[in-house]
Amino acid sequence: MRNTSTYTFENRDYWSSTEIRDPGCVFMPDSADKVAAAVSLFVKNECKFAIKGGGHSAIPQAANIDDGVLMAMKNMNKINIDFGNNRVRVEPGLTMGSIYAALDPHNLTAMVGRFENVGLGLIVGAGVSYRVNQEGFAIDNVLNYELVLANGTIVHANANQRSDLFRALKGGNNNFGVVVAVTLKTIKYDGKIFAGIVYHPESSLSAFSDLVYDYHTVQAVKDPLTHCLPQYGYNGTTNTTVAITTVVYNANVDRLPPIMRGWETTPYTSSTVRKRTYHELSFESNEGYPDRDVQEQRVFTVYADKKLYKDVWLAYRKWLEGYRHIPSLYGLHVVMPITPRAVQEGIKKGHNSLGLEDNGGKVLGILYFGLTISNIEDTPLVLPAHTAFVESMKRLAASRGLLHRYMMLTYSGWDQNVIEGYGPDNVARLLAVQAKYDPTHVFQRLVPGGQKLPGICAVNGWGSGTVVGRDGKLLGVEA
Ligand SMILES: Cc1cc2nc3c(=O)[nH]c(=O)nc-3n(C[C@H](O)[C@H](O)[C@H](O)COP(=O)(O)OP(=O)(O)OC[C@H]3O[C@@H](n4cnc5c(N)ncnc54)[C@H](O)[C@@H]3O)c2cc1C
Repeated sequence: MRNTSTYTFENRDYWSSTEIRDPGCVFMPDSADKVAAAVSLFVKNECKFAIKGGGHSAIPQAANIDDGVLMAMKNMNKINIDFGNNRVRVEPGLTMGSIYAALDPHNLTAMVGRFENVGLGLIVGAGVSYRVNQEGFAIDNVLNYELVLANGTIVHANANQRSDLFRALKGGNNNFGVVVAVTLKTIKYDGKIFAGIVYHPESSLSAFSDLVYDYHTVQAVKDPLTHCLPQYGYNGTTNTTVAITTVVYNANVDRLPPIMRGWETTPYTSSTVRKRTYHELSFESNEGYPDRDVQEQRVFTVYADKKLYKDVWLAYRKWLEGYRHIPSLYGLHVVMPITPRAVQEGIKKGHNSLGLEDNGGKVLGILYFGLTISNIEDTPLVLPAHTAFVESMKRLAASRGLLHRYMMLTYSGWDQNVIEGYGPDNVARLLAVQAKYDPTHVFQRLVPGGQKLPGICAVNGWGSGTVVGRDGKLLGVEA
């Protein structure tokens, strides 16, 4: 209940301070049965609730709620490795780091996220792992979802049982039920990979942008064991940009292979690339992304294009500079590929809901725009302008015939119509699954947070509700 230490901690334990809300109480189940009993009770009483995994969504109210019940999954944190069948069952309160830490000692890994503290929300979104170029998204490597439905039953969804629901969950977010466990495929590795973070200075950024394009269209395509997470970080206080790239070769080697040499030859300031485990890498990747401040993010997808990549970054750099008077402003631009093989893995492993099959076999680029500011009072000044800027970049991409409709759910902004972006066939399929498993729209009406199915209810986010600061003080009520 309010004013208890558990309530206070859980209500503030979020990556973005925009997620700190004003729930009526916090419920922390430690078993699927307790989740099922709670959902039945909520439905019976028309009680609104939020489902929280690791609390890393930047969408206000995606995983928290005003007045309703905050159901935080943290106490559901068991991991069971099935060595004989190459699979691992994980519960939804686990973080990526804890999954890597459990698997690494057995020379096993699974397709989850890349950052230690991030939670399993991505398992109903997409999920970019260190091995995405080889294995496809995290959702494509789920073998079974265990889910509490709106009627309070616990069901399994997999390729053989409820395959319609199985596919819907691969991208369907919290629209169909509460995930109480997932079984993931495991793969063997040598216990060490060659990986670390490379920092490039502003003077290298033109060459860096070309290197990113080369990664998308050559390295990631020709050698699926490659992985990079290229990020431009702009610091408004110093008016400088540093490119921070997690560079990975997913094998126990002593050097990057020749195809990745550009990461060594483009002038950089420092590098931590060396042999290590996935858990060590996830830990280092998470440094620099503490829970703090106001986080806003937006995303869209393009067909990979060298000039567009550079133009968009330069335009974002200029836009960010215009707002550097805002205290602690930090801008992050991330450019991630979706290779044809990654898309094919999704098809091969039973299809997902993302609608990427129609990309004509081309490499796609996810363009992410993230903004960090310290004062929530500055949001009216900067966030609408940020939205307008990203929309202008979408128009630029469209004018060059390079815009793809997909928007990655896990990096999306609150008012981006992500699920519509999956395309009409997938939307129709998702709505049919909803009609079958949640005919009274419990997971829209009573779980209003996060990306919702189109046409059911307004998206919650900046548009409504109270805003509470990290100190618990009420900062305002949005219209
Ligand atoms: C620092 C940082 C690093 C990141 N790194 C990666 C990365 O490497 N790869 C990647 O793909 N993404 C990454 N992301 C994005 C991340 O995948 C999304 O933010 C994801 O939604 C986080 O999941 P969570 O459980 O932590 O978040 P939450 O905010 O708790 O949940 C996100 C959404 O999922 C829903 N949800 C959570 N648990 C359940 C459940 N059990 N049942 C039903 N719905 C549920 C919530 O209701 C919410 O709407 C990163 C984000 C951050 C901030």
